[in-house]
Amino acid sequence: MSTHPDRVPAADCADVVLRLFEFVDNETGPLDRARIEAHLDECGPCLAEYERDLLVKALVRRACACQQAPDTLRSQILTRITTTVTFVEPRQEHG
Ligand SMILES: [Zn+2]
Repeated sequence: MSTHPDRVPAADCADVVLRLFEFVDNETGPLDRARIEAHLDECGPCLAEYERDLLVKALVRRACACQQAPDTLRSQILTRITTTVTFVEPRQEHG
């Protein structure tokens, strides 16, 4: 498998958008990375999509770094636990 380093095949928008999450997470191979970088250089809509993915990633990271769950999420979890316990509780036998 030999590829010419100066001839990187162009990526199209669908290909780039599908791989943006890998790209943002640095999970793409070096060739794919070069293709995506070249495409983002020339394509405004894909660059905007990429910047949005970066923002989402940053938000998720910050949410995970925060140890305290928000009150609504906490009460939702507590409700679910209570419901599950009620459901799992064995039925009382009659008489
Ligand atoms: Zn594009």
